[in-house]
Amino acid sequence: MNFLRIAPILLLAAGIAAGPSRTAAQQDDSQPTPPQSIKSLDLSAIDKSVDPCTDFYHYACGNWIKDNPIPADQVRWARSFSLLAERNRYLLWKDLSAAATDPKTPLEKKYGDYYAACMNTDLVNQKGLAPLEPAFKQIAELNDAHRVAAIVGDLAEKGDPAAFFRFSVQQDEKDSSKQIASVSQGGLSLPDRDYYIVDSKRFDNIRKLYVEHVTKMFTLAGDSPDEAAKEAAAVMQIETALAKASTSRTDLRQPENRYHIYTVADFERLAPDFDFAVYFKDVKVGQFDSLNVATPNFFKAVNDLIATEPVDAWKSYFRWRVLHTFAPNLPKAFFDENFDFFGKTLQGQKEPTPRWKECTMMTDRALGEAVGQDWVKQNFPPSAKASMDQLVAALEKAMGEDIKTLPWMSDATKQAAEEKLAMIRNKIGYPEHWRDYSALKVERDDLIGNLRRDDIFQRNWNLGHLGKPVDEKEWGMTPPTVNAYYEDSMNDINFPAGILQPPFFDPDIDPAVNFGGIGVVIGHEMTHGFDDQGAKYDGKGNLRQWQTEDDKKAFEERTSCVADEYSGFEAAPAHGDVPAQHLNGRLTLGENTADNGGLRIAYLALLNTLAAEGKSIDDKIDGYTEAQRYFLGFAQVWCQNQTEQSARQSALTDPHSPGQWRTNGSVENFDEFGKAFGCKKGQPMYPENSCRVW
Ligand SMILES: [Zn+2]
Repeated sequence: MNFLRIAPILLLAAGIAAGPSRTAAQQDDSQPTPPQSIKSLDLSAIDKSVDPCTDFYHYACGNWIKDNPIPADQVRWARSFSLLAERNRYLLWKDLSAAATDPKTPLEKKYGDYYAACMNTDLVNQKGLAPLEPAFKQIAELNDAHRVAAIVGDLAEKGDPAAFFRFSVQQDEKDSSKQIASVSQGGLSLPDRDYYIVDSKRFDNIRKLYVEHVTKMFTLAGDSPDEAAKEAAAVMQIETALAKASTSRTDLRQPENRYHIYTVADFERLAPDFDFAVYFKDVKVGQFDSLNVATPNFFKAVNDLIATEPVDAWKSYFRWRVLHTFAPNLPKAFFDENFDFFGKTLQGQKEPTPRWKECTMMTDRALGEAVGQDWVKQNFPPSAKASMDQLVAALEKAMGEDIKTLPWMSDATKQAAEEKLAMIRNKIGYPEHWRDYSALKVERDDLIGNLRRDDIFQRNWNLGHLGKPVDEKEWGMTPPTVNAYYEDSMNDINFPAGILQPPFFDPDIDPAVNFGGIGVVIGHEMTHGFDDQGAKYDGKGNLRQWQTEDDKKAFEERTSCVADEYSGFEAAPAHGDVPAQHLNGRLTLGENTADNGGLRIAYLALLNTLAAEGKSIDDKIDGYTEAQRYFLGFAQVWCQNQTEQSARQSALTDPHSPGQWRTNGSVENFDEFGKAFGCKKGQPMYPENSCRVW
């Protein structure tokens, strides 16, 4: 769950790393190879045996899907996102490996050493579990469940993440100029609370395999089989209790469900058996009198758990959290066992991600604004920034025009929407000021130590925002990232240089394809400001109702139409005694609304652009009209293959729909599609009744 409320266009993490995000050490010697070039529009990907009016996704992507099976190290393989991410990673790897062998500046030395430490698996194997021993020793000394806060704080202080909640500083939802402390639920190792609590054969089996996995990990750590089994049972018991006390992802999407301001004293009364004062002192946060408690019920339940669980159960849980968090960076036996469960079993990944990729991603996560500085010099010329400025302006103009024509909205609400639109800030490419990494110490022979120091560095950076003015120039994604986001409290749209490349953005292709690619991405992010979450915030990023009561009701009817439509889509089919997995239309509502709005306003922007150039939407290039090329460019962003396990996991955890439904769900709500392909009213992609919000 993303508590920064950042709404990215694609949740990339689902396709890349197995297990926790701090992934790295594994034993392989695969060598990077230069990536294939990616066509912005690939006419050979089209499967002409499919009727575009029946299933546009399989028409636009059919041949690509057949010809591009999922590589062994991936669980989701998407024509645009994955191929471009592979390319960006390769280029970043070249910088990192050069910096690791022959650094030219102190900053290159720092990220070169970070990368080199990650690559040195011989040393990882040689060290065994020694780097974790101090944490294990500290946990073993716990003798009273009322000292749980002290142990969590002590571990956090040293960069060993054992906390079963999240603590951070973020903007106040009702006064975005303030930065306040916030606590929320956490502490689960499986991908979602459903994995612990849903009663089904599939989840029963996953739970059984998970307990076996935890047992094996404890055994590898040197515990006797009996002891390990007992410890695993305790871990499962505590995590299940935390899962039961957790709010669902769908409910957490709504800001009113995660905004509860408490005084520190009242918060401490919620969980008197967990000494938060000790924890706050250990993580060295500044002084504060009140904070946001996103999930109060969770903390009440934590208190009950502290009162009822024996101290030995807590020791097992903390030992597990440390072991699990660092597992991908431990010796081969731990890495393999971790991959076997979190990669293979849970997601259907056949082989681990090659080590050079993991280490490149790990370095990007830790030092992204250091490694990104050279990367943007080589990959994002000033001319690209100027073209993006033009595109964003074209989309803003189109959205303004779209708002004016909305049939269901009163003039007062239209005016308020236009005001919010005018206040959206655009951030393109990379930060104006780079982050200062001088406080992060990196040692070339200490992988686990680097991860710990990075954890502390990132936390200090975040907690350091407490009470300070908001810096509008900070970024939530690193420059080479293939993604984009909108943030409610900032009311800004952000496009890292990583996505401003072909096939999304191609200076050498006709505007129709660019508008279908990056144009829809820009429109998608802008529409987030007006989706079922975003519309609750005003132009300053404060929770405040700006729609009239009647318009709010009409808006909710229209978003419900979208929610119901997508709930009808299947993410994975039924087979044997495993039932079909449908999408959750309420979990994916914001993203689907953004897709629908993005497709509509990018099309309007294309019409304006063509008109200014004296061209028509019916002009043909390579046998397709501009309108058809626009929709094909859009659909081909989403061509993908995904393992069934990963598709089922995404349906529960990912607020984005899979490629097939991002494509078909959007075009069937936009009549210009049916017209462009000469469909008959009533065909699946050109239905009599469709949904429209924006
Ligand atoms: Zn989005």
